Amino acid sequence: MASTLEPALQSSSPRSYGQYINGAWQDPAGGKLFDDLDPFDGSTFANVTSGTRRDAEQAIAAAANAFPAWEASPPLVRQRLFLKAADILERRTADVAHLLARETGAGFAFSIFQINWSINLLRQVAEWGYRPIGEVLRSDQPGRFVMAVRKPLGVVAGITPWNGAHNLAWRTALLPLAFGNTMVLKPSEEAPISAGLVLAEILEEAEFPPGVFNVVTHGPGEAGPIADAFFDSPDVRSINFTGSSATGRMLARRAGESLKRIVLELGGYNPLIVLADADIDQAVSSTAFGAFFHQGQICMNTRKVVVEEGAADAFIEKLVARTRSLATGDPKNRATVIGPLINDRALEMVRARVDDAVAKGARIATGGENHGRVFSPTILTDVPEEAEAYHEETFGPVLIVERAADAEDALSRAGNTRYGLAAGIMTGNQERGLELAQRLNVGMVHVNGATMAGEPGLPNGGVKDSGWGRSGYFAVEDFTEVRLMTMTRGASHYPL
Ligand code: ADP
Repeated sequence: MASTLEPALQSSSPRSYGQYINGAWQDPAGGKLFDDLDPFDGSTFANVTSGTRRDAEQAIAAAANAFPAWEASPPLVRQRLFLKAADILERRTADVAHLLARETGAGFAFSIFQINWSINLLRQVAEWGYRPIGEVLRSDQPGRFVMAVRKPLGVVAGITPWNGAHNLAWRTALLPLAFGNTMVLKPSEEAPISAGLVLAEILEEAEFPPGVFNVVTHGPGEAGPIADAFFDSPDVRSINFTGSSATGRMLARRAGESLKRIVLELGGYNPLIVLADADIDQAVSSTAFGAFFHQGQICMNTRKVVVEEGAADAFIEKLVARTRSLATGDPKNRATVIGPLINDRALEMVRARVDDAVAKGARIATGGENHGRVFSPTILTDVPEEAEAYHEETFGPVLIVERAADAEDALSRAGNTRYGLAAGIMTGNQERGLELAQRLNVGMVHVNGATMAGEPGLPNGGVKDSGWGRSGYFAVEDFTEVRLMTMTRGASHYPL
């Protein structure tokens, strides 16, 4: 039984964490450990096991053993477990929020958002076991009874990111579990506790059966051998991945070779269109939130705002003022809105993108500086198409503002990307907004809403380079397969 995180967070000396396999915590002293760093001050606040391929294989074996009983467990049993886990997470809100600040640099509002989102998802999936599991179909053969029955896949391997560390980890785990699959979760090395081990603590306390949910952790840059175990095992039937498009593309290639299913929630280049008839103050709020929440490190953050010429000057002036008012600094301080980027690599990438854009002719309307890993919220105008920031997802608090002659022009500028995750349209004319929304090739589009408007039960997901698969109950398509079953009364007649 692992000690809870509360003492770890209160104590100044780092604590060590083992992996959670087959309902038991490994002794961390038995393995190599790596430092789990606070991105704001670089301090080590925990030591986590550098897991190996062998650990992953043991976790897969445990999940495969647990699968038949979990698949067969009655809806009432699963419902009680999910509801109990929701209550435990609710009780632990304060310490998980603190953990998210320390491990991932999340501000208080984003931490609370993630925790509440996860509690809600736990409570929603608790009911899914009672939904119909198939259909009765017509047959052309008299006396033949035909069923299409949904079955879970088996073991699902989850690979989670560090950005929405907590709620994306719950999403990765809960959708497969709710449909009767068992899980091996591999959290990001940047967030092994908040995106993995804390879930194991909660599900253990809720008394999930051993092996149903397992967590394997690994050190920086050492995901490869764990992923090898996933792809090489015949028991792993699906990979549930949330992360960058580059890693997703590589994993999809491997999934093709090993004939495994894969669900991909990848990057985005999410545009917000502001039409001239929009409520400008609302448009400014939606833009500031969409672009800068969690310092721009969410896949659905607004990367570009396309504003119709008639509203552009007033909008930009107000947006710059709002952006300058956002408090930056230590996310452990509740007043902080913009905390640190996750690591130095992220800082260098954001810095390089801004410098590249400026060198190619862009202008900085506000921001552009950093203090340590805290990058000030930045607005770029006049960004030329050759600039990397014009095409690539810049995972930080950097927003491009572009002017459009009219709504048609705005639509074509918004669609000028290989990504297709989220978009928003701010307008005083909802009908026109819906009509334009139909023409944007994205997985999620919000009329009079920010590009980030996800709720736990809704079908989040993307198209094009943003991946495939949908969350909420729509994930039944991803984490079950349909078995055709027939039963014939009387004799069958064959042609030979
Ligand atoms: P980022 O670069 O922002 O961390 P990634 O897409 O690399 O984004 O990370 C998302 C998840 O993918 C993390 O859990 C990370 O450990 C994992 N990952 C990275 N490289 C690999 C790999 N070669 N095989 C499997 N998972 C990987």
